[in-house]
Amino acid sequence: MKKHLFLLAPFFALVVLSACNQPAQDTSDATSDAEELTAAVMTKADQDAMTPQAALDDLMAGNARYMQNDLTARDLPAQVQGTTDGQFPKAVILSCIDSRVPVEMVFDQGVGDVFVARVAGNVEDEDVLGSIEYAVGVAGSKVVMVLGHEACGAVKSAVDQLDVGSENVTHLLGQIEPAIANTEGERDASDKKYLSDVIHTNVEMTLDDIRSRSAIVRQLEEEGKIKLVGAYYSLHDGSVTLMD
Ligand SMILES: [Zn+2]
Repeated sequence: MKKHLFLLAPFFALVVLSACNQPAQDTSDATSDAEELTAAVMTKADQDAMTPQAALDDLMAGNARYMQNDLTARDLPAQVQGTTDGQFPKAVILSCIDSRVPVEMVFDQGVGDVFVARVAGNVEDEDVLGSIEYAVGVAGSKVVMVLGHEACGAVKSAVDQLDVGSENVTHLLGQIEPAIANTEGERDASDKKYLSDVIHTNVEMTLDDIRSRSAIVRQLEEEGKIKLVGAYYSLHDGSVTLMD
């Protein structure tokens, strides 16, 4: 057996030698791949030139790429470098914290492209409102999106009146209570249609609250400088559906 191995040694040596040659080819391939990575980031000029509808279209086109497993290949370190001195995001998205809704990926957005505010049940409070006002009033974003999602655990827990003995959780779930009160049907979280209806109502009411509680948002919307939209994310296929 040892003898056989010995005889094979030159063959292995050849394999090793040719393997040694591989990296040189791989490197050149990697270099040409690297040249195709997107290093561009949102500039002030990009943001200024973008209408609210164009910003929304960009997000929805990104969601189509996400669904097709065709995310933009990005040079992330270059984008980090490119945004060090400033940011000009096209949108601010208020989402649930749900790990199955990876917001930047869902819309195929890179570094500096979108603000994302996340809180269980995508409800607004003063801090979220202040964050949204900063995004549109100071940083020039063109879209305010409230993104609800299928089978939201926060909404489900609110419907179930979950009590874990925490004032914080009770307070948070209480924020969803108005949506439950404004949704027709028997209060039953196991009813998927009912739960979906509450989730949609919750998105609509969050949008209404943002409008009514923020003079800055209201004014920018009236002037046509920003667009407010509600949206619903499907856990089944990753699609985002815009609500009326
Ligand atoms: Zn959720």
